[in-house]
Amino acid sequence: MSFAKLGLSAPILQALSESGYEKPTEIQAKVIPHILKDEDIIASAQTGSGKTASFVLPILHKIEQKIEKGQTLRGRSIRALILVPTRELAMQVLANVQQYGRHLTISSLAIYGGTNIEDNKSELAKGIDLLVATPGRLLDMAYQRAVFFNDLEFFVIDEADRMLDMGFIEDLNKIIERLPASRQSMLFSATLDSDIRYLAETVYNDAIEIDLTPQNKAASNISQWLVTVDKDTKSSLLSFLIKEQNWKQALIFVEKKHSAAKLVEQLGKRGITADSIHAGRSQAQREKVWNAFKKGELQFLVATSVAARGLDMTNLERVVNYDLPFPPEEYIHRIGRTGRAGKSGEAVSLVSKDDFKNLCMIESLLGHIIERQEFEEFPVRKTVPVSILNYHLR
Ligand code: AMP
Repeated sequence: MSFAKLGLSAPILQALSESGYEKPTEIQAKVIPHILKDEDIIASAQTGSGKTASFVLPILHKIEQKIEKGQTLRGRSIRALILVPTRELAMQVLANVQQYGRHLTISSLAIYGGTNIEDNKSELAKGIDLLVATPGRLLDMAYQRAVFFNDLEFFVIDEADRMLDMGFIEDLNKIIERLPASRQSMLFSATLDSDIRYLAETVYNDAIEIDLTPQNKAASNISQWLVTVDKDTKSSLLSFLIKEQNWKQALIFVEKKHSAAKLVEQLGKRGITADSIHAGRSQAQREKVWNAFKKGELQFLVATSVAARGLDMTNLERVVNYDLPFPPEEYIHRIGRTGRAGKSGEAVSLVSKDDFKNLCMIESLLGHIIERQEFEEFPVRKTVPVSILNYHLR
């Protein structure tokens, strides 16, 4: 299967070949034909599966056709809306839109909190073909009559599971109420549980369901291992692993924003330069740090899950769970930051006794125990038992 066989236009094919994409990923091959046929879809997709291109490419293709037919866009109107849960994902999706649409004349914009409202308004005034937005900022713009949905034809909810986890359901409903009934809708989610299906029923008519992945299974090209450790020696174990195993780069996840700053300081004391992104830092700071990390100028980035959601990097070799997340699905999201688009990756977790409950839930979700490694330099005082694999808290 090639992208050309899917029926995408020449300028899009050219951009894909310039991006080094040789063939569609599984989700792209399955989803693109349905979207091109004007069908509504609901798809579950593994993180890193190439899901963004699976909706961006056909939408660009269809908008281009409309522009060629001379369909003009009114000021403050949009043709396509992609809703995402976080600013980072908004930026990432927009970057993909611009990458794939570089030989097209389609206008695009991302709007999200933490940026200048007046700038957003003046950009929207011209009319935008494809708008990427977080729910809160979009509603702000709608209330201020800076954007109208009458001309909207394509509507995507990306990372719907995350939207619900982050409490966006009311905002979503307020947005959906404002959209024209005759539109093509698409929903993407890591999981298709009952809450997502309920949301989908309110949004879509007879959507085609594309369930690609065994639910909640991590990609097989990610090698996962853990080290058990006492809580008070976690930062020295991490420094040890970085030096001993000669790590070039790692995205290190922590649960709380204050732990991020503390860990950066602890690593610094051991001669390891790291920086952090979390909700306590400004948008400009986060972007600067992420770009430095992406370019390889920064080797170690400490991040909270929320701040790192949507950040994309194809060649990230390793993620570290400095502590284990709750809910367990977050573990899958986190480790999905590595091993993207078929590359191999490593996911290392530092597990102390107080992570045990989360470990049980994660391993139950995975359906297997994560391989343990031991380091004699770090004997453990409070041992972490082996999980019970049918552990369910909720
Ligand atoms: P996503 O799951 O949309 O976050 O995509 C994961 C990564 O895969 C991104 O860095 C994309 O640039 C990359 N990617 C998407 N589609 C392809 C493809 N067909 N071939 C190679 N890489 C791809």
